[in-house]
Amino acid sequence: MLSSELNVDLHSHSTVSDGVLAPAQLAERAKANGVDVWAMTDHDEVRGIPEARAAAHDLDMLYVPGVEVSITWAGKTIHIVGLNIDEKNSDLVDGLAQTRSGRERRARDMAAELASRAGIQNSYEGALKYVGNPDLISRSHFARYLVEIGVCASVSEVFRHYLSDGKPGYVPHRWATLTEAVGWIRGAGGVAVVAHPGRYDLSPLAFDAFFTEFKNLGGLAIETVTGSHSVDQYDEYTKVAAHYGFLSSRGSDFHSPQDAEVDIGRLPTLPKMARPVWEQWSLT
Ligand code: AMP
Ligand code: MN
Ligand code: MN
Ligand code: MN
Repeated sequence: MLSSELNVDLHSHSTVSDGVLAPAQLAERAKANGVDVWAMTDHDEVRGIPEARAAAHDLDMLYVPGVEVSITWAGKTIHIVGLNIDEKNSDLVDGLAQTRSGRERRARDMAAELASRAGIQNSYEGALKYVGNPDLISRSHFARYLVEIGVCASVSEVFRHYLSDGKPGYVPHRWATLTEAVGWIRGAGGVAVVAHPGRYDLSPLAFDAFFTEFKNLGGLAIETVTGSHSVDQYDEYTKVAAHYGFLSSRGSDFHSPQDAEVDIGRLPTLPKMARPVWEQWSLT
């Protein structure tokens, strides 16, 4: 059983998805910031795990193989983190490949939208300069390019003005289903966790339906202390976790030293009443 005093960070991204550090560099930053237990959770992708695991081992950090799966639920994009997965599980590997497969087409459509509706040319080629994994072109890569060419001053401003639902560069997309994502994660021996619940634009009724369905599918935890939540939301979602009987996860959602809300390993500890998702783990 792991001590609740440990510095645990179970959500971060490398160049294998939309982070800017390679898995080994991310491990070094986590270690330098005092992380004891670390998960890298690239979007829809597990191929960075061998490098991350080896780096964590060399640095004497406990390592948790992870992933962040994009899903569509009731027309909204939601993220489900999988922790302690067997990244070689073939249903998981095939499911993630299927989930990634629409990204190239979507990126080309985004570039066409940005050109026709915002007069921004060649953003596909521009975004590609920031892509570390050709199968994983993301809105973050477009955002970095739009900052580079001076369209906006920051990545978050690009999301506000161009890349969110209803804005000129937004292209609706259908990701995996909740049933699929939880099924792949559980089938690979992992724990399914709702990522940053405070970020979703769902009514109270829809949230209740979502959490209930997640629980019925075998989902075990939600993120409470995350770089995507305000301090008030740490407590709010700890209460939500208690209400549904979910465990709590903690993760910075670190992507880049330039535009991090919270650096890797630099979150406060879980609220006292939270039950840590790592409570029962015995990691080696
Ligand atoms: P995608 O999977 O291509 O739709 O991109 C989603 C990613 O965009 C998220 O994982 C975040 O890294 C990033 N993102 C989404 N919304 C914002 C925002 N408001 N500010 C900064 N980054 C964001
Ligand atoms: Mn991301
Ligand atoms: Mn996310
Ligand atoms: Mn994330």
